[in-house]
Amino acid sequence: MTKSHADLTALDPLDLFGVRRSLSEDEQMVQDSVARLVDDKVLPIIQKCFEEHCFPKSLIPELAALGLLGSSLEGYGCAGLNAVSYGLICQELERGDSGIRSFVSVQSSLCMYPIHAFGSEEQKQKYLPRMARGELIGCFGLTEPHGGSDPANMKTHAKRRGADWVIHGAKMWITNGAIADLCVVWAQTEDGIRGFIVEKGTKGFAAPEIERKFSLRASITSSLFFDNVVVPQENMLPGVVGLKGPLSCLTQARYGISWGVIGAAQACLAQLLDYTKTRELFGRPLAKNQAIQIRLAEMARQITTAQLLSLQLGRLKDRGEMTPSQVSLAKWNNCRMALDVARDCRDMLGGAGISAEYVPIRHMLNLESVITYEGTETIHQLTVGRELTGISAF
Ligand SMILES: Cc1cc2nc3c(=O)[nH]c(=O)nc-3n(C[C@H](O)[C@H](O)[C@H](O)COP(=O)(O)OP(=O)(O)OC[C@H]3O[C@@H](n4cnc5c(N)ncnc54)[C@H](O)[C@@H]3O)c2cc1C
Repeated sequence: MTKSHADLTALDPLDLFGVRRSLSEDEQMVQDSVARLVDDKVLPIIQKCFEEHCFPKSLIPELAALGLLGSSLEGYGCAGLNAVSYGLICQELERGDSGIRSFVSVQSSLCMYPIHAFGSEEQKQKYLPRMARGELIGCFGLTEPHGGSDPANMKTHAKRRGADWVIHGAKMWITNGAIADLCVVWAQTEDGIRGFIVEKGTKGFAAPEIERKFSLRASITSSLFFDNVVVPQENMLPGVVGLKGPLSCLTQARYGISWGVIGAAQACLAQLLDYTKTRELFGRPLAKNQAIQIRLAEMARQITTAQLLSLQLGRLKDRGEMTPSQVSLAKWNNCRMALDVARDCRDMLGGAGISAEYVPIRHMLNLESVITYEGTETIHQLTVGRELTGISAF
């Protein structure tokens, strides 16, 4: 049955093409439960956390109780949700703050995923159920101080010594590092790049926090130092050799980011819509100016295209058809979209836009990290360029 004109005019300004209505009942339930968590537990505290440069660890049990840690993994106490649900989780969390979504992305896609995909049965049993319950926190060490865009040029190395491995090197910009109980660290070996699980407290391993960040202030970022750290053979991930190990983790996480940033953009636009309707200048509401409406419409256009891109990507992922270059296109497009939207919202708030009373400046500052990590915009553009031409320009 076709809808009446009246129904069709009552569109959700944050979902003009009705993505929500095309979700299954289960997917809608996941979105609603995470949205409630964000409204009740994240939004009331997040601005203060950002100002105080502090990650709200008290949220970890709440995130775990909802099954949001390792949510798309099967077994081992994980929820086994589909890819679209994972995307919606990221979107709702990042509507709260990119730092909270980053915590969940790293725990789920960058630490639990490699253990699930490449770990031994013993490693899976030992770590995954406790990570799903939020009792163990993980981090992912790939980027090194001399340049993250070229991970093949990795200096951190691991050498066999009898039944053990000796890891030496340094990693930089590692989310969750200082609070992590374990780290999946990638190191060069004589066979190629391999992943190792290094537990907190192992001799020679340190994870000091990087301070004075102007972005992702409600998230922990650390350096990792490995000074001839000895780990037993059973801490090596046996299931993968080569760069495809870490890159396949990044594909999972980048997929989630493509959804997450939509939430940040929606949060900015929602606040701006209210503001432009109530702020009076030149004797009329700001929203009555054509120039303002055009800018609002431009934001809605960008958010809508990002939503449709991520939804289709999620459906492809659920069918096992998603490719890394599609993920690159989505991560690039959606991060750029969200950063542009946040910056423009900040501008349209005038002086108020630089105040902590409004969300755009916090999202804008966060998105400067999100557009950089897990492959900068340029790296994803070059990935899409390689797909189009068949020529690597890296
Ligand atoms: C808050 C935060 C959290 C992070 N969390 C993690 C984490 O948990 N784990 C992890 O391993 N890493 C993490 N990272 C690291 C992140 O992935 C890297 O910062 C990113 O990959 C870029 O690497 P880089 O900072 O060394 O920049 P570089 O690689 O030095 O790049 C510098 C500039 O050069 C450009 N560039 C590079 N190559 C080319 C080229 N061929 N052509 C043209 N331009 C080029 C880049 O686009 C960029 O603009 C995090 C970063 C941040 C900021």
